Amino acid sequence: NIDFNVESIRKDFPILRREVNGKPLVYFDNAATSQTPQQVIDVIVDYYSNYNANIHRGVHSLSQEATDAYELARQKIQTHFNAAQPHEIIFTSGTTHGINLVANGFTSLLNEKDELIVSALEHHSNIVPWQMLCERTGAKLHVIPMNQNGDLDLSEYDKLLGPNTKLVFVNHISNALGTINPIKEIINKAHTVGAAVLVDGAQSCPHIKPDVQDLDVDFYVCSAHKICGPTGIGMLYGKEKWLKTLPPYQGGGEMIAEVTFKKTSYADLPHKFEAGTPNVCGGIAFGAALDYMNAIGFDAIANYENELLDYATKLLLEIEGVKIYGTAKKKTSVISFNVGNIHPYDIGTLLDKMGIAVRTGHHCAQPIMDYYQIPGTIRASFMFYNTREEIDYFISSLKKAVLMLS
Ligand code: PMP
Repeated sequence: NIDFNVESIRKDFPILRREVNGKPLVYFDNAATSQTPQQVIDVIVDYYSNYNANIHRGVHSLSQEATDAYELARQKIQTHFNAAQPHEIIFTSGTTHGINLVANGFTSLLNEKDELIVSALEHHSNIVPWQMLCERTGAKLHVIPMNQNGDLDLSEYDKLLGPNTKLVFVNHISNALGTINPIKEIINKAHTVGAAVLVDGAQSCPHIKPDVQDLDVDFYVCSAHKICGPTGIGMLYGKEKWLKTLPPYQGGGEMIAEVTFKKTSYADLPHKFEAGTPNVCGGIAFGAALDYMNAIGFDAIANYENELLDYATKLLLEIEGVKIYGTAKKKTSVISFNVGNIHPYDIGTLLDKMGIAVRTGHHCAQPIMDYYQIPGTIRASFMFYNTREEIDYFISSLKKAVLMLS
């Protein structure tokens, strides 16, 4: 891809200049968290250097400036996801918080006759909050099964859907395998039985730009730290009708209209779901991270990352004993693999000695590992600032590690 100037992009990321164990860092753990460009770091420094203040309450100038910047960030997020209205964007601490907020909100809306559907490809954070909801309400949880390629079996999904289905939750992209799920089809089918759908966008947001109105999705959640933003901030998109229906998740300051000891009334959206002093700086930096990625362009990012994926997949498969888990036709730049019977942790440790950061283990998706009957995998995940040269070094280092361990 001649147009994509990765060398100039890499200059934006100070961390990519550091060494680990005496070797230049090769960062292939992007599915766990992404790195932060100088442009976003500058926004964080500027906030704490020049206008750090609590928002929404102060008459003073700093508070106004911080409030304006925070609300501008909300609008940037609204535009990015194409939400109809800014108050449909709720700031959260991340994907996990967003899912818990929705799961908690449904407590009073469900009973033991109701059924919920989850997919076999989920991260624990899109499983456990719903199991807890089922414990509170008596509702039943059904699972859309997966196949060997790491695709969902949608014919089974059709059989699970029925008049009692109230909610379906599925990730847009699997963090463990990289599979891109057909969420539009999943959403349309759920709507035919009147069920709402929550899409976990933690892994999709770094690679594609979702249009929540076109998807007609009811809830969409993500974390800024996966998209070149800081940790501790994320967003929940919810259709206005749903956000009006669900009760608040937490009580406190900012989320009220009026408080007396007899009765308290809640603030309008989005504040109803934003109790307490929020991560003001994080929200502003989240907006800056979206600006940064949009300036590069999500199509260019996806094209380049797909090239990296194809390149690395081909080279990996040339190594004897490599088995890649997740071979879906539609996938992003995540490769989960094992080499023979070598424990993933041992390979990960040796790669770290060579400066290479990969993830090893079950990737918070134990049901997927159970399906393949393995304890875990080595996961290399690429972002647009990675290069073919890094992949070459990774492959030669992996060969060395395998030789040492066999
Ligand atoms: N879902 C998926 C698919 C993820 O990859 C992750 C992060 N690994 C999460 C949910 C949870 O995100 P967070 O830890 O930022 O809340």
